[in-house]
Amino acid sequence: MGLCMLSLNHLSHSQDYKQIHADMVVVDGHNDVIYESIFQGKDIGRRLNSGATDLPRLKEGGVDVQVFAVWSDDAKWKTGAFEHANAQIDSLEKMVATNAGTIALAKSVDDIDTILKTGKIAAIIGVEGGNMIEESIDNLVRLHERGAKYLTLTWNYNLPWASCAAMESKKMDSKAKGLTNHGKAIVKKMNELGMLVDLSHGGEQTFYDVLAVSSKPILVSHSNAYRLCPHFRNLKDEQLEALKKNGGVIGVNFYSGFLDPTYETRLKKIYKKQVGEEADMTKSTWSMYDQLSKEAKYEVDAPLSKLLDHIDYLVRKVGIDHVAVGSDFDGIESSPQGLEDVSKFPLLTKGLLERGYNKADIAKIMGQNFLRILKENER
Ligand SMILES: [Zn+2]
Repeated sequence: MGLCMLSLNHLSHSQDYKQIHADMVVVDGHNDVIYESIFQGKDIGRRLNSGATDLPRLKEGGVDVQVFAVWSDDAKWKTGAFEHANAQIDSLEKMVATNAGTIALAKSVDDIDTILKTGKIAAIIGVEGGNMIEESIDNLVRLHERGAKYLTLTWNYNLPWASCAAMESKKMDSKAKGLTNHGKAIVKKMNELGMLVDLSHGGEQTFYDVLAVSSKPILVSHSNAYRLCPHFRNLKDEQLEALKKNGGVIGVNFYSGFLDPTYETRLKKIYKKQVGEEADMTKSTWSMYDQLSKEAKYEVDAPLSKLLDHIDYLVRKVGIDHVAVGSDFDGIESSPQGLEDVSKFPLLTKGLLERGYNKADIAKIMGQNFLRILKENER
């Protein structure tokens, strides 16, 4: 009898998760497909057999609001980064215009509401790296006018006005850490504009300096819990406590390397075994992963349970109102097993249901929390 009830429950439950997912507003707070595809002229309006993102797969995954990250590579890091950012926004606008029946650019929460009523995907711009304003508040204003809803203060390089996690985690003069006065002025301007301050990639000192200055809730768009995976890109418990006090939101990142501390070791082992004598252990994790067979890739990917563990942990630490999703798709080589592209988002809802979250709480994680801080920043 008990068993029978259980399997019945399980059956209706597995049929329901797709509907529950489809009924929610799903927001992904971070995706790198502009740089990976759109900027290179790939047409994401049709289904591609490479990469993790295109519009048909976003539709299939039930993604309603997608943040597209604008990111400047090493070559443009120091000069021309503002122009580089604008060129990427041009390419995004072009893609949106070509696919006007499916997607539209949102510059405000009101825009998002209007777009979602038409059944289209709302595209949001997030600028990933303060280098792209080239130290100029005027440039910040111009990117905001073009629709940038957040600025990730740093990527993995220090700026003259803010230090990043990659550098702070290594040996760095403590006096040079954190935000300078110009950095504080930039944060204040962002508060005034209603633009979210994103502290993913930000150094710990920068994180606390921003919290001391910001009058609005902050975003950590794509990072996880350091306690479960001690990587400089993840947030320590004290940071999570401070984030909760600030009223901000952290979006869980799908990268296997930020979810599972054994990822890199396992990847290298399998890569070496598969490639043999030719194995070049100095390669990036991305190019090692690229060379693996489909089966080996799956074996290396973190289990989906790791992603759910991070969500559970973050919810326990910061509360159900402060956790969101920032997949980082197309900026990462490996995502959890079964969650290999944007069409698979419903499996996250399924996983959360199986962990005992109710519909209302899942809706918060999958989108409402992100929308709430967008709104609170616009006020
Ligand atoms: Zn990133």
